[in-house]
Amino acid sequence: METGGSLAHTIRKPTLTPKAIIHQKFGSKASYKVEEVEEPTQNGCPGLAILQKGPCLYRCSLELPDFSVVSGSFKKKKDAEQSAAQMALEKLGIRPSVDNLTAEEAWTDLIARVKYIFSNEFLAGLHPLSSHFKAALCRVGDHDGSIPASVIAICDGKLNNLCKIINPKVESHPFMVVSYIMRAATGLPELVVNPERQLSIRKENPYPPDVIESSVSQQSESITTMAIYIPCSPEKAVEPVILNISPKGYYLDVIAQKLGLSDANEILISRTIGKASSETRFYFAASKSYLLEMSSDLLNAKAVKFGGPLNARASYICGQDIYGDSILASIGYTWKGQDLFHEDVTLQSYYRMLISKIPSGAYKLSREAILAAELPLTFTTKTNWRGSYPREILCSFCRQHWLLEPVFSTSSIPKKASLELSRLNKKLKVSESAEQEVEYANGHDIVDADAKSVGMGSSFICEVKLYSKCQDLILECASNVLYKKQNDAVQNASLKVLSWLNAYFKDIDMPLEKLKQLANVFDIKFYPQNFSKEVVSCLSVENFQNHDTLGGKVPESNGISIPNDVVEDDVSSIDIEGPDSGVCPSYGSLLCVCYSASLVTKGELQKELLESAEEFEFEMGTGAVIPCLEAVVTKMSIGQSTCFYTELPSQDLVLAAAKDSANALAFLSSPCWLEYSIILLQVTEPPEDRMEQALFSPPLSKQRVEYALQHIKDSCATSLVDFGCGSGSLLESLLDYPTSLETIVGVDLSKKSLSRAAKVLHSKLTMMSDPEAPCKSIKSAVLYDGSITDFDSRLCGFDLGTCLEVIEHMEEDQACLFGDVVLSSFRPKILVVSTPNYEYNVILQRSNITSQEDDPEEKIYSQSYCCL
Ligand code: SAH
Repeated sequence: METGGSLAHTIRKPTLTPKAIIHQKFGSKASYKVEEVEEPTQNGCPGLAILQKGPCLYRCSLELPDFSVVSGSFKKKKDAEQSAAQMALEKLGIRPSVDNLTAEEAWTDLIARVKYIFSNEFLAGLHPLSSHFKAALCRVGDHDGSIPASVIAICDGKLNNLCKIINPKVESHPFMVVSYIMRAATGLPELVVNPERQLSIRKENPYPPDVIESSVSQQSESITTMAIYIPCSPEKAVEPVILNISPKGYYLDVIAQKLGLSDANEILISRTIGKASSETRFYFAASKSYLLEMSSDLLNAKAVKFGGPLNARASYICGQDIYGDSILASIGYTWKGQDLFHEDVTLQSYYRMLISKIPSGAYKLSREAILAAELPLTFTTKTNWRGSYPREILCSFCRQHWLLEPVFSTSSIPKKASLELSRLNKKLKVSESAEQEVEYANGHDIVDADAKSVGMGSSFICEVKLYSKCQDLILECASNVLYKKQNDAVQNASLKVLSWLNAYFKDIDMPLEKLKQLANVFDIKFYPQNFSKEVVSCLSVENFQNHDTLGGKVPESNGISIPNDVVEDDVSSIDIEGPDSGVCPSYGSLLCVCYSASLVTKGELQKELLESAEEFEFEMGTGAVIPCLEAVVTKMSIGQSTCFYTELPSQDLVLAAAKDSANALAFLSSPCWLEYSIILLQVTEPPEDRMEQALFSPPLSKQRVEYALQHIKDSCATSLVDFGCGSGSLLESLLDYPTSLETIVGVDLSKKSLSRAAKVLHSKLTMMSDPEAPCKSIKSAVLYDGSITDFDSRLCGFDLGTCLEVIEHMEEDQACLFGDVVLSSFRPKILVVSTPNYEYNVILQRSNITSQEDDPEEKIYSQSYCCL
């Protein structure tokens, strides 16, 4: 078994720049805009006050989800960006250089910070915490002006950082911050604390009346917002609760009361859940054992041990241990203003949070198709992908699971090497020496989303690494597959990691051996200890997902007897309505369907629409929708519609899709299943080269060139003319193989193709000075612009003539003319002609059906003949 332990020591902790820290915290949500600022300067002559243009300076504005900052002017763009990032960090209370502090210094700073937080100056400022102070000033009785320590802990980044220096365990046990704040406050005579009884702090002497007056909350209306009550016992149902906050009320007291507590001073608050600007948090009671921990030696404190039972559902969503009954609410003071921010958390949003923890759930949410969509198995092209990109999903997965941003390293494999690599799966062996070269390519396969670019530029591979916040390596994915585009390599590597994580989350009881085998399939190496510490820790209660998350209210769906027409894998019995238009989807097609998915009860007495889309696009054959839907659409042609039934997916998915959770729950309590109605609206055919790639491995274009190369080698020819050379794919390949050729010529009508061919050949020939170049023999390469049906003495007398995939582009009489000219005038000793083969290539059969329908008179141009 491999562990990340030893590896972790080899990774030196880098000193992060302000920009890097902002990136870690906000990822793509941090947006930098650099603008030029012209600062006029006066020339040196006192008498002449003519303004001259000064040096160009840059200013950077950095926008974060909650606020933005603008830097001063700098000579370099990057300095402006770093300065803006530094300003943002200061505003957030994060000090990058704090790493240098000792624990003792951090403790002194912590006390000073707590003191400052209770100052008049802080109350008057704009900080989410000052808004809490203002609201707390309206609390009645003993609690007037008293602030729960947990609020200080969640609102002040600076304090959190200092606590992490005092005790690194704080990173994984954030509630320890509350203990440290309480202990710091205990040492300050101006503050009143009673840690034995309550987790709150108050000033000994009240704020001066004028400060209070200018600070008292202006809120004049009551606020009503929805939250979710998550009982600790998985047997009990998750339920919505309504929080009613009166104008003078403190929202935390309202939440505390819903939890059965007397007030907010006993409450603990989790970190935020979801997007960076979210205020969604869990609230729960601090247990008695936690209060006792207050009196221990805090500078060497151990992680706080709670006596209470773990709330599995809340802990799973939060990724942090939550104890006892808990409330999930989206409410709080933010940097945006002094008003209380609030947003309803409904049962639907709760279930959406639940499913978003898993990559496929996050993808489904990004497509707004929870019941229909699936995380695709492959990333073909950017143009066909719908929903969040794999890289994005992986980044947000890492953020959600409190890991560092994933590290992607792409490397480009030089052209020559990648061409050799691409030959690995070839059907034709070229030569002994070529095979030797293949060996160094060792196991790579080339994938090209855009077959037109085969042989051009370099290829890319991408390696992804996931690290914990403590920089322990969790997993790495390094695939052998080469991609023509850097983005394809990154997206596919991300998708592999996501697919593996998905498989794990779907079966979290999977034995380690099986998980390892699966990791091999996805080219992943993971470090079980670190993986279980970081990713699995949030599942502290074993596989609670398999328990009934609705608290026993809903009967098991296996209890339902499924009607005969419920389809899962077998779609043969499906009734399809509407005339067959003949235009059917095939592998790689981009489909557009209109669909709806509804819950229906037995006998279809009742129906509840869960999800629908007027136009929903997906690529066939990539697993982008539930298997049943994909199987059904293969039976359909454009304009046809159908309806089919499936067994219910997990209840989490049903409730994440249902807008009216109460209704959906009522349905789920009786036998029911899902009905899908679909209309196939549109089918966009994939480019032929991509289809070819799917059907022929290696692609036909490659097989064709390799076939010709074989003959060229066998012929021992010294001169070759390629009739209709196009962009020079054959000529270019000739420069990669050792042959006996000395002179190569290409001729084509298309100037555009010729100029592309010239470019490729030129760069290739430049590299020929390399002593390792394989085709040392070639002395001249020439391109001619002209028609191959016209006599041209320069094309006469060659050892070998090639004419690949050209004659089918010509009118029949022109093709005959070429036959005459080439055989009677140019007279190469050997002529290799190729055309597409109709019987062999189903893609051509399909395009012929369409073209025949368009014009029945039109001749099938693609015929099968190959002449030598
Ligand atoms: N042989 C190349 C290109 C095939 S595409 C390959 O296999 O990749 C067909 C090419 O034939 C086009 O580049 C087109 O411009 C060329 N072509 C068609 N009619 C021609 C003619 N009469 N004379 C010269 N080239 C012609």
